[in-house]
This record gives sequence, C-alpha cells and structure tokens, in this order.
Amino acid sequence: MKCAICSEKIENTFLNKIVGTFIKKKPICPECQKKYSKEEILKKL
Ligand SMILES: [Zn+2]
Repeated sequence: MKCAICSEKIENTFLNKIVGTFIKKKPICPECQKKYSKEEILKKL
C-alpha cells in the first residue's frame, strides 16, 4: 500500500493494519500525518 500524498510505501503491522491512517479511505503515511494538518491532507487527496 502506498501513501496517497507522497507515494511512499506504507508497511503493514502484524495485525495487518497499516502503519499510518486512512482519510477518506485513502492511506496516509505517518510522515505526511506529521507534516500536514488534516485540512491540508484533505485538500491534497
Ligand atoms: Zn506520505
């Protein structure tokens, strides 16, 4: 799975969850979560 903003690969945890989050069903990596506010992410999607 790749981040919807920066296209970096997002790793899965052993529980098959992603290391990151979903916003509007799109995967977002932890770096982009740190870099951007939720409003900024929504604009970029
Ligand atoms: Zn990212």
